[in-house]
Amino acid sequence: MSETTPATSRRSFLTRTAVAVAAPSIATLAAGAFAAPASAAETALPDYAPVPPSALGPALNEQGYHVGRVERNLYWVTDGTYQAAFLTTRDGVVLFDAPPSIGHNLQRAIDQIAAANGVSNKVTHLVYSHHHADHLGASSLFGKTVVRIGHAETRRLLLRDNDATRPAPDITFKDRYTLRVGGQRINLAWHGTSHSADTIYIHLPEHDTLMLVDIALPGWVPIYNLNVSEDIPGFMAAPATALSYPWKHYIAGHLGRLGTRDDVVLHQRYVADIATNVRTALATVDPTPYFVKYGVNTWAAVKTYLDAVTDYAAAPVVAKYTGVLAAADVFTASSTLVVLESIRLDLGVGSQVHP
Ligand SMILES: [Zn+2]
Repeated sequence: MSETTPATSRRSFLTRTAVAVAAPSIATLAAGAFAAPASAAETALPDYAPVPPSALGPALNEQGYHVGRVERNLYWVTDGTYQAAFLTTRDGVVLFDAPPSIGHNLQRAIDQIAAANGVSNKVTHLVYSHHHADHLGASSLFGKTVVRIGHAETRRLLLRDNDATRPAPDITFKDRYTLRVGGQRINLAWHGTSHSADTIYIHLPEHDTLMLVDIALPGWVPIYNLNVSEDIPGFMAAPATALSYPWKHYIAGHLGRLGTRDDVVLHQRYVADIATNVRTALATVDPTPYFVKYGVNTWAAVKTYLDAVTDYAAAPVVAKYTGVLAAADVFTASSTLVVLESIRLDLGVGSQVHP
């Protein structure tokens, strides 16, 4: 395969989608699909329910980003799939996350706002929401002198993973830290493992805003396994913790629009419905036929039984949320399986001691 062809295809795809839809960086996620022959992919790809208009955000500019005001001197940037935020102050700019998919458009967005308001465009501080590369991989673009702030576990993980695009934070904390820059106050807090061990709550009380990344995604269901989360009980508890803060604007790290308190409540109900249905399914689906059929192949019996429980639990949730949350029919089954495993393994439901 030539080296230029896929890159060219991808670039032209990015250009086309930047004009056509509000999610050009979907191309980044889908880049691997270019390896498959188009004809095979076209015939094999499933159809899904339409995305509700309420899930979509503002149109992107020709460079593939949108920058908007959250409140006063707090702004958010999106490429339709990822989000970052920044605060302009008299002493420089505080940036929150640096997703590689937004990349150089972060500084372009900052330049645009700084020029319009006659303030400094120099990023002096960079706050990390958690250690994942998809939210931090453009960190190194801001150089060595930027002060990076994150959880102590973020530092440990980044030093371990040794990725040059994500320098470890210089300032770390374990439970709480208040960052003050240019007369602005940003409260950082850790409330336990949820999406990741180091996911933090970024609260800007003077801007009525909470940034909490990879938990509730406004207008959309979580992706695989409840956003590929490390601790399911912690992930399920996070919305209540988020709602215990006073705020109006929610910056989720995904997708194309800002969130509200209603978005977080809706996400919370969606996950709670999955958990309720899993408990019903565990009490309803009879494992006997699966174990009878597969005999000594224990794993085949376990897989088909748990798949049946998952399908039984997920189907009503898909029906209820299709048209309400985008991609309910895409990812609910995957998330239902991890809720099922968490209810069995974390909570011990259905566990029986041999007599
Ligand atoms: Zn993440």
